[in-house]
Amino acid sequence: MIRQYELVEQVRAYDPNADESLLNRAYVFSMKAHGSQMRDSGDSYFSHPLEVAGILTGMKLDCATVVTGLLHDTIEDTLATSEQIEDLFGPEITKLVDGVTKLSKIRFPTEGAHRAENFRKLLLAMSDDIRVLLVKLADRMHNMRTLVHVKKPEKRRRIALETMEIYAPLAERMGMQGIKDELQELAFTELNPDAHNSIMKRLQYLRDEGTDMVARVILDLEQILKLNNLNVRVVGREKRAYSIWQKMERDNVPFERLSDIMAFRIIVDDVATCYAVLGILHTKWPMIPGRFKDYISTPKQNEYQSIHTTFLGPESLRIEVQIRTEEMHEVAELGVAAHWHYKANDAKVERGPYRWLRELIETLDQIETPEEFLEHTKLEMFQDQVFCFTPKGALIALPTSATSVDFAYAVHTQIGDTCVGAKVNGKRAQLRQPLLHGDQVEIICAEGQTPSPTWESFAVSAKARMAIRRFARQRQNDEYRRLGNAIADKIFCSAGREADNDVLQAAAEQLHQKTTGDLYVALGRGDLTDRQLLEAAFPGSKIKRRRDKVLALPFSRSRWRKRNVETVSINGMIPGIAIRYAECCHPIPGDRIVGIVTPGEGAMIHTTECEVLENFNGTPERWLDVSWEPDSAEAEIHVGRISTVAANEAGALGSLLTVIASNSSNIVNLKINDRSKDFFEVVIDLEVRDVKHMANIIAGLRANALVSSVNRVRG
Ligand code: MN
Repeated sequence: MIRQYELVEQVRAYDPNADESLLNRAYVFSMKAHGSQMRDSGDSYFSHPLEVAGILTGMKLDCATVVTGLLHDTIEDTLATSEQIEDLFGPEITKLVDGVTKLSKIRFPTEGAHRAENFRKLLLAMSDDIRVLLVKLADRMHNMRTLVHVKKPEKRRRIALETMEIYAPLAERMGMQGIKDELQELAFTELNPDAHNSIMKRLQYLRDEGTDMVARVILDLEQILKLNNLNVRVVGREKRAYSIWQKMERDNVPFERLSDIMAFRIIVDDVATCYAVLGILHTKWPMIPGRFKDYISTPKQNEYQSIHTTFLGPESLRIEVQIRTEEMHEVAELGVAAHWHYKANDAKVERGPYRWLRELIETLDQIETPEEFLEHTKLEMFQDQVFCFTPKGALIALPTSATSVDFAYAVHTQIGDTCVGAKVNGKRAQLRQPLLHGDQVEIICAEGQTPSPTWESFAVSAKARMAIRRFARQRQNDEYRRLGNAIADKIFCSAGREADNDVLQAAAEQLHQKTTGDLYVALGRGDLTDRQLLEAAFPGSKIKRRRDKVLALPFSRSRWRKRNVETVSINGMIPGIAIRYAECCHPIPGDRIVGIVTPGEGAMIHTTECEVLENFNGTPERWLDVSWEPDSAEAEIHVGRISTVAANEAGALGSLLTVIASNSSNIVNLKINDRSKDFFEVVIDLEVRDVKHMANIIAGLRANALVSSVNRVRG
C-alpha cells in the first residue's frame, strides 16, 4: 500500500505546484470514511482508492484528479455526502466525484450486440469532463488487478466482460495503449482461462527452446545502432497472451510464427534519429513489404506517432519494431491522459463543459470501416442530446431541453401518462424544468392520472408530444360526445319522439357515421345539425314545441385546448397536474382563484366568488391554493363569460359585437335569452388576455347607449 507521503511525493515529482495539503486532507478523509470496510482480498477497503490514486499519478494527472481517485467511492460506499465533499474540497472535485459516482451506477447489458452502443453511452455519460473517465478507468484497472479475490464466479465474469466490451475499447479509443493492453489481458484470463493457459504454456516452451530470444535480438539491435553512434533504448517484449490470441483468431496464423509474439520498440531522442535508425535497419536487413508505416509524418487522429516496420533480422527471424521518441512513447502509452497533462500546463487552454467530448471525438482513431464511420458521425449527432439516468442507472437519451415529462414517456408510455411529479438528483423538481447531462430522474406517478394538455407547451420529444395530443383529442371528443348527446335529446324531445338504439344506429349509418358515438361527436362538433339528425332518425318529423332561439346548452365547445393551457403556478402541490378552468365561473388572469382537486382528473380552477365552491365546503383537502403566473398570463388567451342586457332594437346585437371586436377579442359563443318585449339578455363567451382586457370590454359595452347592464358571469 502506498503511504501518504509517497503519494504526495509522486505528484510533486511531475507537478511541483501540487496542493500538498489538499492531497493530505483527501487521504485522511477517505481513510476515515472507509473506516474498517474490507475488500474481498482481505485488504482494508482504503487500499483501493489509494491504489487508484496511485494509478492516476502514474498517468501524471493533475491534483484534482488524484484527489478524486482518493474520494471516488466515498459517496457511494460510505456515509460521506456530496455536501461534505463540497465543503472540504470545493466544487471542482465534488463535480468529478459525483461524475464517477454516477458512472458507477450505470448498468451495461453485457453480452450481445450493444457493445458500440454501450461504448457511446459511457462516453457521453461523462462527456463534460474527461477526467471522470480517467478516474473510472483507473478504478477499473485496480478492480481487474484484484479480480481473482472476488469470490462469486458470476460476478467475476460480469466485471471481466464489461471490461472487455466497454472499458478496454474505450481506453483504446482514447489512445491509452498500456491501459488497454492490461485490461484486455486481465479480462481474457478470467473469460477464457483455457486459451490463456495454453498460450502461456506454449510461450514458456518457446522461451526454453530459444534460450532468451528477446534478449538476444535486443542485443543485436543495440549493437548495430551503437556502431553508428546512435543513442537509443531498445525495449523488447513478448506480446500479451490476448493479443496473440486475437491475431491467431483473426488471421488464422499458426502459433509457431515467432515474430508475431515478439515486439520491439526503439526509443530515441529526436525525430531525425527515428529516420536514421530506420535507414540503418533497412540497410542491414531486408524489410518485409507491406508492413512499413510512417505515423510520424502522418500521425493518427489520436496523435499517435511512430514508425512501424518488420524485417528479416538476425537468425532470419521476422522482427517487428516501432521507432519513436520519448514524448511519442508517452502519448502512445497514456493517450488522452498525456494529452491532458500537456494541455493542462498551458494556461491558455479553454475549459468548457463539452471541450473534452469534442476533443475526444476529434482524436478518435482513424476511421477504417463504414461501421466506424457511422459511429463517428453518430457521436457528433449526440451533441444535440441530453443523457439522463433512471434511479437504477439505466441511461435515457433525450433531445436537448427535454423535461421530466419527456423522460417519463421515454421510460414507458404508462409512466408518462400517469406521471404527476419528478425528483431530479433527489430533489423535487417542476415537470417543465429542462434536464441536464447526467441528471438522475425519478418519476412520481399516481394511478388514474392522465396527461395534462399543458405539457404540450414544454415537452419536446415526439413520443411525449404525440401521447399528450392523443389524450387532448380524446378528451375533446368526450366533450363533443356529451354535447352531441344533449343536442340529440333536445331535438327528439322537441319533436315528441324517442329514439332507441336501433333508430340511432340507422341514423348514424345514413349520416355516414360509424357508431352512434361518432354521430354524437359530429353533432357536438357541429359537423351535423340537429335537424339533419331528426330527419335521418324520423323522416318528416316536425318540431312541436317552440324552442329557444339558441339551444340552452353548456358552453363547452371548441377552443378546449387553448383554454386549458396552464398559466397558473401552483403552490403546495405537484406541478404539472392537469388543470382545467371551470365552465361555471370562467376564471381569467387577474381573478382571485382557487383549485378544486378531483382525484384522477386533476384540478378545476374556479374564481373565489364562484357559487359552486359551496359544494366543497365539507372537503377542505380538495382545495388548492393557486395563483396566476405573472409572466405567462399575457401570452395566453382565456375565455371569460359576460351577461349583457340590451335594448331589443334592430342593430343592438351588432353594435355589441362591434364593441367587442374593436377591443380585439373574439366571441367564442353566444346565447340569447328572450326577456321581455323591450330588452333581451345575451350571454357571451369571449377570449380575453386577463381581467384588465375584460374590464376594457365591459367598460366599452357599458358606454354603449343601447346597453342597460353588463356583468361577469360567475356560476
Ligand atoms: Mn472504486
